[in-house]
Formats: sequence, structure tokens, C-alpha cells
Amino acid sequence: MTVKINGSEWTVLWVKKNSKKLFCDNVQCFGVTYFDEREIYLDRGLSEKSFRKTAVHEFVHAFLYSYGIDLENAGEDVEENVCEFFENHYKKILKLAAKVVKVWRLDTLVKDIL
Ligand SMILES: [Zn+2]
Repeated sequence: MTVKINGSEWTVLWVKKNSKKLFCDNVQCFGVTYFDEREIYLDRGLSEKSFRKTAVHEFVHAFLYSYGIDLENAGEDVEENVCEFFENHYKKILKLAAKVVKVWRLDTLVKDIL
């Protein structure tokens, strides 16, 4: 399937675990993002939870690249750590933001009435 990130079309494909596309520097991965080709490959055999986490991880790589955020020179593994951070915490962040927005909405509603 294709998705748009910052105006550019990316192809997302889920392939067999042993696909050569899932090997990055001879290491087998759950997902790999190819920036020049604008392609994201995901291991199709993962559990839904792992598949989602891997998709988030690879999308963070793709978003950073698409918005010109270069973490390559920020230090070893910084980009990898950012991607891992998001794959592990994005749900909690979205949940907290939704909670805050909900309370904020109620608060402003009450203040509008009073
Ligand atoms: Zn990564």
C-alpha cells in the first residue's frame, strides 16, 4: 500500500521474515526503511502488537527523513533510540494528550457557560 508523508508517496510492504529486504547490514530486522526508494518493509509474520510497534518505528524513521531532521550526526544510535522510544511510548503519549484535551475542552466549556 502507499502512504503520504509530507507530500511524498511511500510504499509500505509486508514480506516474509526471510526476505532480503528485511536484512540491514546483515542483521535480520522486523522492519527496514529504504529512504531513497521511499519504501518501508515489514515482517508480515509478526503478532499484531509487534507489527504495529514496528510500523510506528519505521514511520518515525520515514517522518524524520521526510521532514529533514538529520539525527545521523547527533551521536551513535540517537535516531534508533528516538524510533524505539516512540514505538514504546506513542500510545501512552496519545492517551495522555487525549485526556488533557478532554479536560481542557470541558474546562473551557464550563468557563464559557459561567
Ligand atoms: Zn530503526
